[in-house]
Order: sequence, then structure tokens, then C-alpha cells
Amino acid sequence: MDFRNIYYRLQALDVGLILRDEPMYKHTTYKVGGAARLFVYIKDIDSLKSALNFLRQENVPHMVIGKGSDVLFSDREYEGVIISLDHLNRIEFNGNVIVAQAGAGLIPLAYQSAKVGLTGMEFMGGIPGAVGGGIYMNAGAYNSSISAICQSVRILNEHNEIVTLSNEEMQFGYRTSILQAHPEWIVLDAVFILDVGDPVAIHQLLDKRKERRMSTQPWNFACAGSVFRNPDDQPAWKYVDEVGMRGYEIGGAQVSPKHSNFIVNNGYASARDILDLIELVQFKVWEKFGVKLKTEVILVNWE
Ligand SMILES: Cc1cc2nc3c(=O)[nH]c(=O)nc-3n(C[C@H](O)[C@H](O)[C@H](O)COP(=O)(O)OP(=O)(O)OC[C@H]3O[C@@H](n4cnc5c(N)ncnc54)[C@H](O)[C@@H]3O)c2cc1C
Repeated sequence: MDFRNIYYRLQALDVGLILRDEPMYKHTTYKVGGAARLFVYIKDIDSLKSALNFLRQENVPHMVIGKGSDVLFSDREYEGVIISLDHLNRIEFNGNVIVAQAGAGLIPLAYQSAKVGLTGMEFMGGIPGAVGGGIYMNAGAYNSSISAICQSVRILNEHNEIVTLSNEEMQFGYRTSILQAHPEWIVLDAVFILDVGDPVAIHQLLDKRKERRMSTQPWNFACAGSVFRNPDDQPAWKYVDEVGMRGYEIGGAQVSPKHSNFIVNNGYASARDILDLIELVQFKVWEKFGVKLKTEVILVNWE
């Protein structure tokens, strides 16, 4: 594929800042990943439409990312275009109704809501994703999740039409939404409905949860949060402990000694190290318990 030509044609469409051979380790919280042939910071929704129109017509592989906090890109080059919606990050408050664009960060959203005395987003005060990725994953913590506060989502479908989906139509479940069955659908923005609360109490809860995260999770290491989805019977970390993998290392990847459902990059891990360790843990748990641990982290650009 002639990415030089694709670069110039995207430039001509004026879709936003385009980077060539952009290393994905710069855009993922795991700090690993080979270069994407092109990386585009889309400037607005019309630009997103024209970029997608062109990429689909030319059959160019493409993928939207948010903050890259739930993905494991392989070490090899991504032969396609990565689309970032980081610049679509507007947040509008209207009473207890919030409209947030896909690129808005979940943490700033939680703190801004707290500031105006709206309660319901405290669970996401430590989730380092953006609204689009959060909705895709139905991100959650402390027995709550995006689905509890999201009224509707505007998406761009495979025909480049803007469609509004209600909460029910989003088919939210445990770390899932309808988007996972429709990789071409792109979240543009979402409407959230919160309750009115006491700003001081909301801030206190956010702070308490931040402290709890810092004491129980390896916050100072590159990672992507929980690696495995929790099986129905017990949390994934218990299985990891029961096969003795807490602290185990492959290359620069390690099952965190602090939280065994986190696999961290000790600073020199390759994506391969991380995936090898994920697969070893899965094998050990399968061998001992017959349980298949499914990954929560999304694997991108692997053979
Ligand atoms: C330290 C740490 C702690 C974490 N704690 C939690 C936690 O408590 N709870 C939790 O649920 N998660 C947690 N996570 C995981 C992660 O932050 C969430 O899953 C988050 O919602 C991912 O958002 P993102 O923007 O980073 O998505 P990305 O990782 O960039 O993308 C994830 C998926 O969403 C898709 N996507 C992204 N944007 C869009 C869009 N606009 N339209 C359509 N698809 C899109 C991507 O294509 C990809 O398939 C944690 C991660 C870290 C690093």
C-alpha cells in the first residue's frame, strides 16, 4: 500500500494533523507497540467523515483509539491509519445533563462533574480512558459503570450516517457494548444524566477512591489496568495467585506483585513479552482449573 500517496490525499482533505510512522508506544499506557504508518488527529466530525469515506473507498485498514489505556499493540508496524479523536474533547453541562465528546478524558469528566456538584461519575475518577473507549468497554469500577449514567450515544455508522442509540440499544454488559460487534461504528459523543449532590462529599469520595487505587494498584508502572475479565465464580486475580504467577516475569513484563490481575511493563518490555506472559498465565489457569481466562485488554495488530 502506498502510504506516501495516502498521506498526501489525506492532507488534501484537510482532516487534521497527520503523523507518519508514528510509534504506538507513545499513544498507549502500556508504552509498547510498533509504528503506525499514519496517525491522524482528526479535527472535527466533518473531517472524520471525509477521512473515513476516503479510507473505506481505498480499502485502507484503520482504527480509532482513545487514550490507548486498554490496548496491547504488537511490536510490528501497523499497516494502516490510526485515528485519534483526542481533539474532539468538548464537555457541556446543562443542569444535570452532560454532553461529552468521544475524546474527553473520563478523569477530567469525573472531576468537572464533582466541581459543579453532580454525583454518579465518582467510579471513573481513576480510569485513564476517554469517553469513546469508556463506552466501547462499558468501563466501570466500584459496582458501577458507564451504562448506569449514560442516556444515549451518538455514533457514526459504517455508511457515515450519524445515529443516536439509547442506553438499551447500546446493549451494555460487563465490559462490553454493542460497539464490540460493530468495529466500524465510531462514538462521537454521549449524553450522561447525573444526580445533584454535595460537591465536598463528591470530592471526598473521589479522593478516597484515588487513595485506595494507589494503595492496591501499580499506578507507577506502564500497564493497561486489569488484564483478564473476571470469571463468574471468582475474581481473575485469585486464579492468577492460585497458579503462583504473582510477581512472575518474562523479559520486561511482570505480573504485578501488588495486584496480580495487572501485568506491568517494567520499563523495557516488548509487546511480545507482555503477550507471552498473558498466554502463560492463561495456560497455567487452564491446566490447573480448566478455566479460560479471557483478556479484557484488546490485542491489536497481532498475527
Ligand atoms: C491504570 C489503569 C487503570 C484502569 N482501571 C480501569 C477500571 O477501573 N475500570 C475499567 O473499566 N477500565 C480500567 N482501565 C482500562 C481502560 O482505562 C478502560 O477500558 C478505558 O475505558 C479505555 O478507554 P481508552 O480511551 O483508553 O480506549 P482505548 O484503549 O484507546 O481503546 C479501547 C477500544 O475502544 C475502541 N474505541 C476507542 N475510542 C472509540 C470511539 N470513539 N468509537 C468507537 N470505538 C472506540 C478502540 O478501537 C479499542 O478497541 C484501566 C487502565 C489503566 C491503564
